[in-house]
Formats: sequence, structure tokens, C-alpha cells
Amino acid sequence: MHVTDFIIAGGGLIGLLTARELRQAGAHVTVVERGATGQESSWAGGGILSPLYPWRCPGAVTALVRWSQGHYPLLAHTLADETGLDVEWLQNGLMVLDVDEQTQALAWARQSGAKLNLLNRIEMLQHEPQLGASAVAEALWLPDVAQVRNPRLLKALRHSVLASGVRLKEQAEITGLIVDGDHVAGVETASERIMASKVVVTAGAWSDNLLRFYGEIMPVRGQMILFRAAPGLVSRIVVHNDHYVIPRRDGRVLAGSTVEYAGFDKSTTPQALIALRQAAVALVPTLAECEIEHHWAGLRPGTAQARNGVPYIGEHPRVRGLYVNTGHFRNGVVMAPASARLLADIIVGRAPIIDPMPYQIMDAP
Ligand SMILES: Cc1cc2nc3c(=O)[nH]c(=O)nc-3n(C[C@H](O)[C@H](O)[C@H](O)COP(=O)(O)OP(=O)(O)OC[C@H]3O[C@@H](n4cnc5c(N)ncnc54)[C@H](O)[C@@H]3O)c2cc1C
Repeated sequence: MHVTDFIIAGGGLIGLLTARELRQAGAHVTVVERGATGQESSWAGGGILSPLYPWRCPGAVTALVRWSQGHYPLLAHTLADETGLDVEWLQNGLMVLDVDEQTQALAWARQSGAKLNLLNRIEMLQHEPQLGASAVAEALWLPDVAQVRNPRLLKALRHSVLASGVRLKEQAEITGLIVDGDHVAGVETASERIMASKVVVTAGAWSDNLLRFYGEIMPVRGQMILFRAAPGLVSRIVVHNDHYVIPRRDGRVLAGSTVEYAGFDKSTTPQALIALRQAAVALVPTLAECEIEHHWAGLRPGTAQARNGVPYIGEHPRVRGLYVNTGHFRNGVVMAPASARLLADIIVGRAPIIDPMPYQIMDAP
């Protein structure tokens, strides 16, 4: 039997960052991961450090996004120092071609203080010379939006938490929580019981299997493709009609993504490949000449529509010592640093970075 202060149930981006925060606060932390850390949604995502249409998001999402956006450069820098790995934080801006949303977008920018301006066609081509001729005549431009190369971020975090003394138990699926009266006491895997007075569920799309909430967290499949392209072919993150392209530093271009309610099925489909390719080529026609190197799918931790993408961060209403950090849906990469810091603030009793109220877990009706 193994005993620790905290068990982190699930080693995705949210779990690894939560482990890091708690370790930095002096706790003994064990991450228990079904497979290898950082191979699920956090790996599959695009790494855009902004919602695609930030003005559509509720204030509670914006609050986490804004804090994280401010923190990411420091996180990238610290991880590089600690691990020697470059997570490729790159501030190359977001160009949104859905210009019919400009009134809402400009109002949001005024209120939130985000930089946003309207570009005409000439200015659009100055920022992204390869844009297709069929693209619209105006665009919304958010120059401060950055991206990270999320698989590298996960790798760096794994190194960092291990070096700091966090224990990682991989290939260990948690089959249930151990609860004693109204208090959590640990978790069970197929081979052992791990005891802890505090457990944080960070199991992404699978969180409900452990929490047995009220069916609140559901998998939402997202498929992506990757073009092998020369550096400089695409320079900016460009979004139109919910499809986007993301240029990496080495020239590769990601194109995403589907939003599918297909249960826990992570397979890819030929229809999605065609649709993603068509949408990307409409944005940047020269991509038609580039080989598609990879096609994959990930399962986002979605929540009920009424929740509007606001994650659950806090203590379970009925089980003391059981905490939750999940339900980040489409914006988990960008919200992760703030989510992890906020939960650590709540747990250790520090002044929270933002108001924790909107993220509370309500009791079942
Ligand atoms: C195609 C796609 C594109 C995306 N693009 C972006 C983007 O550009 N920007 C952005 O901010 N967000 C994006 N996202 C969303 C983001 O990836 C997620 O919100 C975020 O990664 C969720 O992180 P997580 O740690 O909660 O989940 P995960 O990364 O899925 O991690 C959960 C972990 O828990 C483990 N686990 C589950 N059950 C158990 C168990 N019983 N026992 C032990 N371990 C268990 C899993 O194996 C997994 O490792 C995208 C997602 C997808 C799929």
C-alpha cells in the first residue's frame, strides 16, 4: 500500500499542472495515469492559446484565459530552464475571417482590454500573404494571441514534475475511489490501493467514470490533420467558419477540427479528412500541394450546453477531500495554468487568483 498527500487522477495537461502547483506548495503528490502521461486530449489539441472566437465565451472562461495568457511566457521560460525543452510559445496572432461578428468582437475587446482590430484585404495579405482569393474582404485581427506546441509542453511538464519529486504511476487505471463516510481515502487500481486524504480528479473526458457526477462530463471527438509544409508558407493562425490552420515553427501546419458527439470512439474518418483538407485549402490554397503527414482524433472533456464551456474547479459537494479540475472542453490548453493555480489556491487556502464561484460543483438536483 502506498500513501501520499495527494493523488492526481489522470495525467493530462490539467493533471500535470495541478501536480506541479501542489508540489510547489510543498505537498507529496502522486499522479496516477491509465496509459502514459500526456497522450490524450492535451496531446491531440491545437495549442492555440485563445478560444477561436473569444467574444462568444462567458466571463468565467475569459477570466481563466486572460490569467493563463499572461502566465504562459513565464511557464515556457521556466520549463526551458528546468528541462532544456522548448515548448515553442509563439505569438503569431489570430486572424478571424468571420467578420460578421465584428460588433460583438469589438465590444468584447473594449470591455476585456484585448487588442483587436479590423483589417482590410491589403492588410490581411500583409499578415498572411498566402490567403486564398475566395477569403472574405475583411478580418478581425488579434495580434497578441500565441500558441504552444502542446506535445512538447506535456513532455517538458513530465520531466519537470518528476524532477521536483512528484511520483508518477503510469499504466495504472483507477477503477474506483475509496471513500470513508463522507471523506475520500484514496483510489483503487487493478493491482493496488493508493491511500491519500485528498484526491483530485483530472481524468478529462473520462472524469465521470470516476466521479459518477450526473453525466455532466462527456467526450467530444475532435479530428485534426497535419500538413508537411515549408517554414513560412503559413505565418498566422487563421480561423473561418469554425475551421482553422495553425502554423508551427518548423513549417508544419495543423488544420482542425471536427466537433463530434461519438462517445468514447477515438477513430478517425475519411469524411473528416476530406472536410478538414478542403477547409484548410480554402483558407490557404498552396496547402493543396502539401502532403498530409498525420490524421488523428482526441476526446475533449465536454460539458452540458448550459455550462457554456466553464470547467469544474473545486471540492466535491458531498465528498470531503475530493477535488475536481475538469470539463475544459475546447479551451483546456489555454485555461490549464489558471485552472491548476486556482485549484491549488482553493486547496491550500491562499487568496485565489480569480473568483472561484463560477467553477463550483453544484450538488445533484
Ligand atoms: C482536436 C482538438 C483540438 C483542440 N485544440 C485546442 C486548442 O487549440 N486550444 C486549447 O486551449 N484547447 C484545445 N483543445 C482542448 C484541450 O485539448 C482539452 O480541453 C484539454 O487538453 C483537456 O485536458 P485534460 O488534462 O483534462 O484531459 P486529457 O489530456 O484527456 O487527460 C486526461 C488524462 O486522464 C487519464 N485517465 C482517464 N481515466 C483515467 C483513469 N480511470 N485512471 C487513470 N487515468 C485516467 C487519461 O488517460 C488522460 O491521460 C483541443 C482538443 C482537441 C481534441
